[in-house]
Amino acid sequence: MTDCLLAARARVLHDLAARGMDSARTVSIVDDVLTARRWWVEQWPDGHQYVACLVAQDVQEALLETVGRWPLCSLHEVDAEPPHELRVTPDLGPDPQWVCEEHGRVVAPVGALNT
Ligand SMILES: [Zn+2]
Repeated sequence: MTDCLLAARARVLHDLAARGMDSARTVSIVDDVLTARRWWVEQWPDGHQYVACLVAQDVQEALLETVGRWPLCSLHEVDAEPPHELRVTPDLGPDPQWVCEEHGRVVAPVGALNT
């Protein structure tokens, strides 16, 4: 696996752990995403800077279909609003960030979510 994929894996696993969602099942989903993205990186080596951004979005989508929404926003009191997930911004960029669209706020860079 190339360095950029390993780096993306580390960032996403950190953010899964930050939400208590690092389980054998979710790690396996992450690894499936990385396997799929490996081909993409091989076709477009200049795209390596975007891998973390894309992998975070891929994992978010894959979890939505299986385990549930991730990562949930932690900016608000749980009781105050319905739980909602963060979004990766931009869709394709070298420095992806988790953003709460409800409040238009950057929460953390991908790979640096706090609990
Ligand atoms: Zn929010």
